[in-house]
Amino acid sequence: TQFTSPPLDQHLLGNVDLARYTTPTPVQKYSIPIVEAGRDLMACAQTGSGKTAGFLFPLLSKLFSDGPIANLPPQDMNKPSYLRNRKAYPSVIILSPTRELTCQIYDEARKFAYRSWVRPCVVYGGADIGQQLRQIERGCDLLVATPGRLVDLIERARISLSQIKYLVLDEADRMLDMGFEPQIRRIVEKEDMPGVQDRVTLMFSATFPRDIQFLARDFLKDYIFLSV
Ligand code: AMP
Repeated sequence: TQFTSPPLDQHLLGNVDLARYTTPTPVQKYSIPIVEAGRDLMACAQTGSGKTAGFLFPLLSKLFSDGPIANLPPQDMNKPSYLRNRKAYPSVIILSPTRELTCQIYDEARKFAYRSWVRPCVVYGGADIGQQLRQIERGCDLLVATPGRLVDLIERARISLSQIKYLVLDEADRMLDMGFEPQIRRIVEKEDMPGVQDRVTLMFSATFPRDIQFLARDFLKDYIFLSV
């Protein structure tokens, strides 16, 4: 594999081999070191560029090497997420505009989280919430969500944002086109969401118009701008 600089977690690299990805795409070549370095990122990249793996690889690599929670006793190291009062405490939230895209990201996340403690979940609007709630209850470390459905789950107190380490806004321009800005702001400005200094935030968008520039100004800190 050519996914070797910077060094990614061995378990992740095993899953990358299983998926037969051998060569990073241009966006992956640049985004992986930026995310590995812990920087916020504003990336202009199209669907089909490989941007999903561009954020999933470094993010899963970091989760795998950090483990579930730093101060857990050794026998608990392989346990999945923390479930208290049927509430899930994901470390990662990925927002995306449509059911189709959330499911694509979820499939990719499942492939690369294979045989790890990280449990990916997916939720989107227009589908039965009961089944999604049951999925979340079984453990949810990485959540791929459309903004409206996530607001609903937060209001039902089934998702806590307090453990978020990584927030990804994928296809941000399409989310705004679909009128999701109020829901996105609601989520990012929620009181239990770690502040911009205490999380890593990644934004992907095909275009970079003013409304996206404003979101970047409000949600990202000292970010690197990448255009591929
Ligand atoms: P995306 O732009 O993230 O939607 O990815 C587009 C497609 O390319 C998806 O089907 C990925 O599974 C695939 N893909 C992404 N990165 C790679 C890679 N480095 N090698 C082979 N296939 C890839």
